[in-house]
Amino acid sequence: MVMKINGTSALSSNVNRTRDNNGHINGNGHAFKIWEDTDIIGDDHIATNIETPMRADAFLLDDERKVEIIEQHFNKIMNVLGLDLTDDSLKGTPRRVAKMFVNEIFYGLNPENKPSMSVFDNKFKYGQMLVEKNINLNSTCEHHFLPIFGKAHVAYVSSGTVIGLSKINRIVDYFSRRPQVQERLTVQISEELKKVLKTEDVAIIIEAKHMCVSSRGIQDESSTTVTAEYSGIFKNEKTKDEFLTYVGMKL
Ligand SMILES: [Zn+2]
Repeated sequence: MVMKINGTSALSSNVNRTRDNNGHINGNGHAFKIWEDTDIIGDDHIATNIETPMRADAFLLDDERKVEIIEQHFNKIMNVLGLDLTDDSLKGTPRRVAKMFVNEIFYGLNPENKPSMSVFDNKFKYGQMLVEKNINLNSTCEHHFLPIFGKAHVAYVSSGTVIGLSKINRIVDYFSRRPQVQERLTVQISEELKKVLKTEDVAIIIEAKHMCVSSRGIQDESSTTVTAEYSGIFKNEKTKDEFLTYVGMKL
């Protein structure tokens, strides 16, 4: 399991580190001292909680009103940047972005949008692991609001309950469509699958590229981030190895 979900210890280990003037943390001593803990959390992509941090009043406004308000704010951002919003090409952008936020890339914030899950009895008595690999994943980094994209590989061993294969894709998509941290996304999908499938025997690996790493900051084009969560029988090395072999990640 690759996890950094412990804000306190991660923070304290970073306190003496420095960062360069692009905000990158480094240890060479030639950079500015770090300013704020929130900066460290952001640039180190540390998740602080398994639940997506939401306010209690998150859904008092309906989607239509949210689009209106975000449109107004995004209009202001573009104005501050000096863009001419009377230009034909730009004038529709604030509304387009607002609708995209609410209806597409962040639809997974709203529990009402959670995919409904019909489960079936495992009539075939298939008792081996089922692997669905290369599930397309599109998410957004919550620290920079830039895309995270990659693949998820999921496996489970049925305890008597099965779900349609496309439902696994829908669960991956639902939790991806939020401002996310990859570690949290991995755990959220795993927890949901365990709940729906009524078993602990679930494994998930996510391999993804982060635009905030490739297009800004350190500008590393080639790296990918891998996170994994193994539960139940998948903690057993032999079972884990079998899964890794199926998804082509066995070293
Ligand atoms: Zn980021």
